[in-house]
Amino acid sequence: MKAPLVLEIKGNSLDDGPGIRSVVFLKGCPLSCVWCHNPESMKLSAELSFDAQACIDCGACISICPVGALSRSNPLFVDRDRCTLCFECVEACPSGALSRVGKQMSIDEIVNRVSKDKPFYDNSGGGVTLSGGEPTLHMEFAAELLRRLKQEGIHTLLETCGHFHFDNFAAQMLPYLDCIFFDLKIYDEDSHKDYCGRPNTLILDNFARLHQLIEQDNAGGGHRVTLLPRVPLIPNITDNDENLHAIAGFLADLGVKKAAQLPYNPLWHEKTRKIGAHNPHEDNEAMHKWLSREREQHCKQVFTERGIEVVHNP
Ligand code: SF4
Ligand code: SF4
Repeated sequence: MKAPLVLEIKGNSLDDGPGIRSVVFLKGCPLSCVWCHNPESMKLSAELSFDAQACIDCGACISICPVGALSRSNPLFVDRDRCTLCFECVEACPSGALSRVGKQMSIDEIVNRVSKDKPFYDNSGGGVTLSGGEPTLHMEFAAELLRRLKQEGIHTLLETCGHFHFDNFAAQMLPYLDCIFFDLKIYDEDSHKDYCGRPNTLILDNFARLHQLIEQDNAGGGHRVTLLPRVPLIPNITDNDENLHAIAGFLADLGVKKAAQLPYNPLWHEKTRKIGAHNPHEDNEAMHKWLSREREQHCKQVFTERGIEVVHNP
């Protein structure tokens, strides 16, 4: 089984599902949303991150780099075309300004690490969330990790972009999941392709099939799973009335009663800078601001008018 790189394991999270949770972020995503809140999770491979604020200008990295990729005269500091990702500079950096994004961890290592917080999960109704990137990109690994977590009696939650092979997902991962947060971003197919890199037909189809399957299973009294659609509110891209009405209509037609709306977080610009990734919205003023309380209320109203309650957790 091929193991993905782990971006981070975040403990004590209150934002990624019910209760206190550990969040395991796996690297790699089939989509490339321009506003991605975790841009360092998009690529499958390891990356070099440079945090200019943390740099103390000691020069240790410059002298150790074997290919001369680091230079004070370069406004970006790192010449990404020249860098061979040997990470020698990371070892030499005393301030942590240079860091490696993505590390190998076995399933045993992940389970041992997150199991330590089981008493907190149990006391708070929490558990472990698999996030990314897109965990379903690593179906076999993610399924085995979930199986092991369930073996430990830990509540499991998946955050997914919905772009997966349905039958494989239903057979391999679904049996070990308690909850699924399923992102629905843009209803219009062309627009979805423009902003997220791929059309949304598979995603919408997967959501509808999963909703139906879970409803049937839950009604039959079998393994209970909670499915919560989530819409990220991105200024002038997903938060417009036309898109929200279309998504609300899609959900209402399926009989969905609850959904989440994710408030916009402009901190992704800084994360994009650190890994030297292209940001087409660097100069877009609207995308550097938080969404106003009024706009959030309006977005919520579009859903409630269609009989869909907007919730934080299911
Ligand atoms: S990762 Fe290696 S090649 Fe890249 S900047 Fe650091 S030392 Fe140089
Ligand atoms: S080693 Fe770290 S702190 Fe020193 S110059 Fe390089 S990035 Fe800055």
